[in-house]
Amino acid sequence: MNYIERFRVQPNTKVDLRKVDAGFTDTHESHKAALPEIEVHVQKLHDLQYLMYAEGKRSLLICLQGRDAAGKDGTINHVLGAMNPQGCPVTGFKVPSKEEAAHDFLWRYHKAAPAKGQVAIFNRSHYEDVLVVRVHDLVPKSVWSKRYAHINAFEKMLHDNGAHILKFYLHIDPEEQLKRFKQRIDDPTRHWKISDGDYAERPFWDAYTAAFEDALGKCSKSHAPWFIIPSNHKWFRNLAVSRIVTETLEALNMRFPEPTVDLAEIKDKYHAIVSEAGKTKKKRKKGKSK
Ligand code: AMP
Ligand code: MG
Repeated sequence: MNYIERFRVQPNTKVDLRKVDAGFTDTHESHKAALPEIEVHVQKLHDLQYLMYAEGKRSLLICLQGRDAAGKDGTINHVLGAMNPQGCPVTGFKVPSKEEAAHDFLWRYHKAAPAKGQVAIFNRSHYEDVLVVRVHDLVPKSVWSKRYAHINAFEKMLHDNGAHILKFYLHIDPEEQLKRFKQRIDDPTRHWKISDGDYAERPFWDAYTAAFEDALGKCSKSHAPWFIIPSNHKWFRNLAVSRIVTETLEALNMRFPEPTVDLAEIKDKYHAIVSEAGKTKKKRKKGKSK
């Protein structure tokens, strides 16, 4: 099954998240069975990001969105973290600072967009400004409703500048979220992740669903697609995300750049040094044996 086709939101469609099975695992029976495939994709991801960095011509922006405990951090940990941090900045977006709030809503995201050769990862993204902001009336509807067009124009501009954009909505159902909240309570190493916000947002489940559906439907473009990833099973989420990112990068047909030096000349220099070093070593040995 082609996962890019299978999970991509078609442009200008009405999305109905209730019809999407968050527990879908395709033909894979278990984490154990899927692990070898995940490992292959993760290794490829590492190699392809190295190639993108070396080529230095294009870039990739990966946006991760989802409800609390949907697995944004986990996806970075288990999949995207395989890439070399030198060419792969990760930016998490929280409640805007005073300075950020004083600018237009895209300002802070634009600053974190990838430079040529980079893969940039957004843990939450510019979509928060049509999600939490819309659900909680942080700005009037007359303001947030114009943002879909602003976002589309922003992403088109990034794309015209050489950026490829992939946006993942990590889809979990309310039961799975509650299960994960319980794991956070039961595991002292996860206590730090618990926030009042997690519980405060639960009553707004349906309002978030409507906001996500609008964002996914209005802002999925062929040059900046949204993917709805069934994420009740963390391993399936990892499999799907790693496969989609890998296949996208492979399709770019990237090439290592031509060397900027005369290789034949460099090889001659190298061999001259090796041969000189060999002679010096022999002399030293002779000197010692006397
Ligand atoms: P976390 O990702 O768990 O660290 O939480 C970050 C919090 O920041 C979430 O509750 C988000 O909804 C909130 N947040 C992110 N972006 C914005 C924004 N543009 N406006 C208001 N709240 C935001
Ligand atoms: Mg949180």
